[in-house]
Amino acid sequence: MHISSVTSRKSLQRILGSSRSYLGAYNVTGRFLSNGPKFAVKAKRSDLTVLSASAVVALAVFQYKEYSRTKLELSAEETTTTLLNWSGTHVVQVDNNRYWEPETVQEVEDIVRSCHKRGQPVRPIGSALSPNGIAFHQNGMMSMANLDRILQVDVKNQRVTAQAGARVSQVVDALRPYHLTLPNLASIAEQQMGGFIQVGAHGTGRSIAPVDHYVTEIKLVTPAKGTITLTKDDGELFELAKVGLGCLGVVVEVTMECVPAHRLVEHTFVLTREEAVTRLQELLTEHKHMRYMWIPYTDSVVVVTNDPEDQVKEIPKLKKISEDERFAPLRDLMLELSNEWPEPYTKESLQSIGFGELRDALLAIDPLGIKHVKRCNEAEAEFWKRSEGYQVRPSDELLQFDCGGQQWVWEVCFPTGTQEKSSGNDMDFMTELLAGIEREEIPAHSPIEQRWSASSSSLMSPAYGPKDGLHSWVGIINYLPSEDEGQRRDISELFTGRYCNLMRNVGQAVSATSHWAKLERPKSMWQLVDTQLFLQTRFPLRLFNEARDIYDPKNILGNDLLNLVVGKPGTK
Ligand SMILES: Cc1cc2nc3c(=O)[nH]c(=O)nc-3n(C[C@H](O)[C@H](O)[C@H](O)COP(=O)(O)OP(=O)(O)OC[C@H]3O[C@@H](n4cnc5c(N)ncnc54)[C@H](O)[C@@H]3O)c2cc1C
Repeated sequence: MHISSVTSRKSLQRILGSSRSYLGAYNVTGRFLSNGPKFAVKAKRSDLTVLSASAVVALAVFQYKEYSRTKLELSAEETTTTLLNWSGTHVVQVDNNRYWEPETVQEVEDIVRSCHKRGQPVRPIGSALSPNGIAFHQNGMMSMANLDRILQVDVKNQRVTAQAGARVSQVVDALRPYHLTLPNLASIAEQQMGGFIQVGAHGTGRSIAPVDHYVTEIKLVTPAKGTITLTKDDGELFELAKVGLGCLGVVVEVTMECVPAHRLVEHTFVLTREEAVTRLQELLTEHKHMRYMWIPYTDSVVVVTNDPEDQVKEIPKLKKISEDERFAPLRDLMLELSNEWPEPYTKESLQSIGFGELRDALLAIDPLGIKHVKRCNEAEAEFWKRSEGYQVRPSDELLQFDCGGQQWVWEVCFPTGTQEKSSGNDMDFMTELLAGIEREEIPAHSPIEQRWSASSSSLMSPAYGPKDGLHSWVGIINYLPSEDEGQRRDISELFTGRYCNLMRNVGQAVSATSHWAKLERPKSMWQLVDTQLFLQTRFPLRLFNEARDIYDPKNILGNDLLNLVVGKPGTK
């Protein structure tokens, strides 16, 4: 069961064989910071557009092993596995004899039992998409990638049961022949079902809850109490375990509600900031899915709405704008800025570069230069104005969107009134955040994403709340657009320092809490104390840690980040 180059090669083939292309996979670079050889895996866009996120991780593992093999001239066993998260911000190296890839539930049970006996850490890991690497543990991890079967589609009750390692995209594909789909998706569908629910992932829509809310049954392999199956009838424990952060047991099966498959009409358009504020209630109420993308330093807010095709009376015909016209603001800027380079971009060379890649290339020129970032953001705003339009496609295709390349992100969630009426604090939050960015001249990349969800019934969900509750999710971003180590360090410093501090301060007034997959390790003792105190008021941590004490008393499932911010099993 230990990973070896043979099994990792097999799993790589498995993943590649069943993978679909996914947005934003360009320019992914694996950088491995081992004690031994320092090695960066660089993959070109053309290599990666066919890879799923888990394939990228698997590829990274595989390439690292191949490299180790070459270095050692095939004479010795490789001893470690190195994993990199999707965002390229966290890396972990684990001994191969502490990295498991079980293929059956029985194997999961055997590993967990044996680890529990020895007090050996064994943190479950999904696709490693979490920007904060919340699944990582250098002393022991269990990849769930091989438990990826779709077990049952219950058409009558509109439910699907899948093994926890099945990727969301696989589940959606399996539901298609039954004319069913998942109630909502995040912006990427390469998460595993286990990771998807354990961090409480969300999409957008005032009446649509985060995905964990739609779980009806969950099977967990727990260290101290063996395998348990939980449903709503199990009350608090079920509500804790759905967003369990990998701490209450290894999820092996998930049953989730589905909805009839449907096509959506997507409308993209741009408002001014004032219009975005005044039209919020109308847009939230009238559209099934609605999100804002605020572009710092511009008076532009990109709005994307999605509604079921059969509820849209008429799709207005808009004047067609050619791709050349649409891309002109970004391409012209690149032509101008690269003019003096030994090998400047040309009109022809820019033709083959997509939007996200072009934004990365532009930002890479001076990602922290305030004047430069403003120019890039202005060009992006103009690009979106020329991108106004409608498209009609299946919901699972439209609810995902291009998230850009490697990046720092931080997303917070806060209650904002009821689904009937937003309290308006979501707009106050944005007004204050943008004012702070612009006052402090923070080189904030675009966009700042704002989404909404209904309440989740899961006690550890950032969107836990009353049935009719409404929550707003706001995510800030700074891309890591190049391989330059110094540049990456400076961006990381700015983002995790000044920029996050600003959002933290603005968020205090609305009790904003971090998305679990985006909560970074506090940078100072004071910040740690603040975070701990805040999380204690925002979540039922005592209950959560009591449950951990019962199901994982030796804390073999937790990790340093969680020990630090939510405490250890039994922490009061
Ligand atoms: C490009 C991109 C776009 C994203 N868009 C969104 C978005 O729109 N909305 C949103 O909410 N999030 C979004 N995210 C975050 C992402 O959805 C979550 O981080 C993701 O759901 C984690 O799934 P994973 O399989 O990668 O899990 P991992 O990151 O590997 O693990 C996440 C957590 O789940 C636990 N876990 C995983 N599998 C199991 C299991 N079988 N049993 C028990 N615990 C388990 C791990 O221990 C860890 O605590 C995005 C991330 C990226 C990189």
